[in-house]
Amino acid sequence: MVTLDTIQTVGVLGAGRMGSGIAQVAATHGYDVVMRDIEQTYVDAGLDTIERNLNRLVTNDRLGRADANAASERITGTTEFDDIARADVVVEAVVEEMAVKKEVFRDLDDVTDDDIVLATNTSTLSITSIAAATARPDLVVGIHFMNPVSLMNGVEIVAGEKTSEETVAFAHDFAEDLGKTTWESDDKPGFVVNRVLMPWINEGIRLYDEGTATKTDIDRGMKLGTNVPMGPLELADHIGLDVVLDASQTLTDELGDRYKPAYLLKRKVEAGDLGKKTGTGFYEYDR
Ligand code: NAD
Repeated sequence: MVTLDTIQTVGVLGAGRMGSGIAQVAATHGYDVVMRDIEQTYVDAGLDTIERNLNRLVTNDRLGRADANAASERITGTTEFDDIARADVVVEAVVEEMAVKKEVFRDLDDVTDDDIVLATNTSTLSITSIAAATARPDLVVGIHFMNPVSLMNGVEIVAGEKTSEETVAFAHDFAEDLGKTTWESDDKPGFVVNRVLMPWINEGIRLYDEGTATKTDIDRGMKLGTNVPMGPLELADHIGLDVVLDASQTLTDELGDRYKPAYLLKRKVEAGDLGKKTGTGFYEYDR
């Protein structure tokens, strides 16, 4: 049976926004981390982000310098898939595409010990379907961290059809050990958070596209009117417009046209304007 006591090394697949955040939080909580991406430039970018974030925590007196250095030393970046073999648990945070996730889980199933938990950070995709790519669906679970991982306390736990109760219990324990508070959702498209969030964001984009209000007024209206920290357009930029589009498309495929992505969202992604990560989305950012 998997328990926290058996976990020393956390494998993270993907060194993007979420993967680097998960690696950072695991390392600051004492775990060794192997973080893998497909190209060295992505690995380096992820390691740079972690370094910058750790330095910011030190500057803001939220982490001691020695602890930040120790966390940094615990993280190994790699492009070699086989390096994940030494992980005692893996959290996958690659692009939100079912075909890619399935391929990654097939490979993970091959290289890792067959009794370890393989978790996915997917925002919307079926855990059951991802798990079916492995010979251990009982050990596959959704551990859905929020963005940015080091600042957001919530984690959504999602069991697939064949996920065992022990694996679900482990997922709660692991997330809580990383300082997070958890809740559970059934394996339905978008789970709790994105099922509600994606139509909210797309409706904000449609309002802007229709000229109902300026982008700043839509964001200001939703912040002051509903007491949320970011309006829909700001939040879309923060998440990444490609991630929002993929998530909206999954919800549309599974649940129908009421989840359809806004036209303007598609056009922005086609133009390569993906939000903060490219410097331009609905707003401009200093990269
Ligand atoms: P991102 O685009 O920032 O990063 C994805 C990374 O995965 C890229 O660096 C890419 O090179 C890498 N990658 C692609 N294929 C790979 C492979 N086979 N092996 C290893 N790495 C690979 O995306 P992100 O925002 O970090 O999202 C990652 C996952 O987390 C998605 O499933 C997304 O839905 C989910 N998620 C995102 C958010 C958010 O707000 N951005 C929040 C919660 C969950």
